[in-house]
Amino acid sequence: MNWLKSRRKKNNDSVDGVSIDPVIIQRAEHNVSRSNIDEPALKVLYRLHKAGYQACLVGGAVRDLLLNQHPKDFDVATDATPEQVSKLFRNCRLIGRRFRLAHVHFGRQIIEVATFRAPHGEAHHEHHDESGRILRDNVYGEIHDDVWRRDFTANALYYNIADFSIIDYVGGVDDIADRRLRLIGDQETRYREDPVRMLRAIRFASKLGFSIDQACRAAMLELGPLLVDVPPARLFEEVLKLFHSGHAGESLEALQEYDLLKYLFPDAAEALHDPTVAEFVRLAMQSTDQRVRLDKPVTPAFLFAALLWAPVKQQTQANVDAGMPHAVALQKAATRLIAHQLHYVSIPKRFTTIMRDIWALQARFRHRSGKRAYGVLHHPKFRAAYDFLCLRANAGEVETDDCRWWTELQENTPEQQQKIVAGGKQGAPRKRRSRPKRDKGGRR
Ligand code: ATP
Ligand code: MG
Repeated sequence: MNWLKSRRKKNNDSVDGVSIDPVIIQRAEHNVSRSNIDEPALKVLYRLHKAGYQACLVGGAVRDLLLNQHPKDFDVATDATPEQVSKLFRNCRLIGRRFRLAHVHFGRQIIEVATFRAPHGEAHHEHHDESGRILRDNVYGEIHDDVWRRDFTANALYYNIADFSIIDYVGGVDDIADRRLRLIGDQETRYREDPVRMLRAIRFASKLGFSIDQACRAAMLELGPLLVDVPPARLFEEVLKLFHSGHAGESLEALQEYDLLKYLFPDAAEALHDPTVAEFVRLAMQSTDQRVRLDKPVTPAFLFAALLWAPVKQQTQANVDAGMPHAVALQKAATRLIAHQLHYVSIPKRFTTIMRDIWALQARFRHRSGKRAYGVLHHPKFRAAYDFLCLRANAGEVETDDCRWWTELQENTPEQQQKIVAGGKQGAPRKRRSRPKRDKGGRR
């Protein structure tokens, strides 16, 4: 990356760090090659260009290409309006109310095409609420305006299809070379406009191994409470990106470091002061990261179940102490904890149902015989609940005995399993030697 730095000329004329004249990094001076850009994205760029519009690859795609990584999606920015874009592509749908965007479909791949937008604040185009949050900013502008609606300098680079150069208004190329996340403009204003940017900072820092610039860090430590006003459904989407990017462990640590976890998962944040709980949650994050890296399926229900497990257990015990049977006590505790959680980060019902199953199965693992054990083994959420049990054992929360017994049971044939549980054997089931282990990559 040093070659990139050495060729960047300093530009002193700037407003809040956004240069009036951009630095143009010519094709020969950067490593972004068309051979690394997906064909559909190139088609969109070329067609817009041929029709006389400006067309640039923008955002995470340019950042990842500069880092020699393959982008997970390709976004295009243009001076064509969404309606003009839609006239050029048959496979195009216009979406969004707050942001009107064109989605160009190529089979399962979607290329998002956004029209350059006007600067924030100027001519009161944007509407803010009393805490400074942007409510609407759908006014078109030029490329130098568009820079302002980007969050970090590393995400605000434009790859111009007209001459394959990179347009840099904000020093983003230098920041990528230095592996640094820096907000464009005034930190506090930008976080107030959209507090989710604090979570994005953590996500990119964890995923890319970037450091967060000192001014951004200070602002994050101060402005965390703003997250409480973000709609819980939006936070769910963002938390999912944080935890399913293969870097859940680092992301959780950073959320704790910046004291943001309590605005997302208040009950979990409290429980994590206990070292055994912290170890269990750490192992759950680690296991999810491994699965993501190996391309195995993951469900958010598993991590949310892990985060809320200690509070649920504590509340269950309180209910039992008040005289409730265990199963009822657990369901009541789950209902209460989930209801509280939904005020912060919402969790769709299809996942809370699985969380309840995972929790309820934990007590049922103690039954190692008869119909009850068989029922556990064939429960649709057995696999997730069993993984959960083993993590608890590894964290030192429960004895490893149950986990071992159920592990070995799975190594038998279905006929043998039936015999073992029907026979009411309490000891470790006999292993069948020739059969390979049940696929650990199975669906959770
Ligand atoms: P990823 O690799 O996770 O897709 P990305 O940078 O492409 O990372 P996206 O969420 O796909 O992130 O957004 C695309 C671009 O849109 C970003 O690079 C950034 O320029 C801009 N952007 C997205 N969300 C925000 C936001 N909340 N505030 C400011 N700019 C944003
Ligand atoms: Mg992206």
